[in-house]
Amino acid sequence: MSSDNGALLKSIADMLAKGLETQVEPFPETDKEFSDILIQLRQLDPKDLKGKLVIGGFVDHPYGPDKQRCLECMYYLVHRKFCDLPELAVPVEPEWWCRLWRI
Ligand code: SF4
Repeated sequence: MSSDNGALLKSIADMLAKGLETQVEPFPETDKEFSDILIQLRQLDPKDLKGKLVIGGFVDHPYGPDKQRCLECMYYLVHRKFCDLPELAVPVEPEWWCRLWRI
């Protein structure tokens, strides 16, 4: 992981630890709902970390009865600790989660 990503990861972790309220609900049950969230994300400045976290519905812990986490998500790059969904493209910890989670 580059030092830039290390700094970004820390800023994100700090915002979440301070209790940033993010839109964890509603979870997108259909492709249409999923795409609608992507459309909202595309309207953000790619550097708008807070906006990505809020719209993405990030939490800094596993989520729901199934304890879903980034680690098992299809977008997670394990070795880079990075979310490869282009609309997010942020460093994330394996134990975190967001509502774009997919397998
Ligand atoms: S889409 Fe969400 S759950 Fe999946 S790796 Fe990215 S941040 Fe984690």
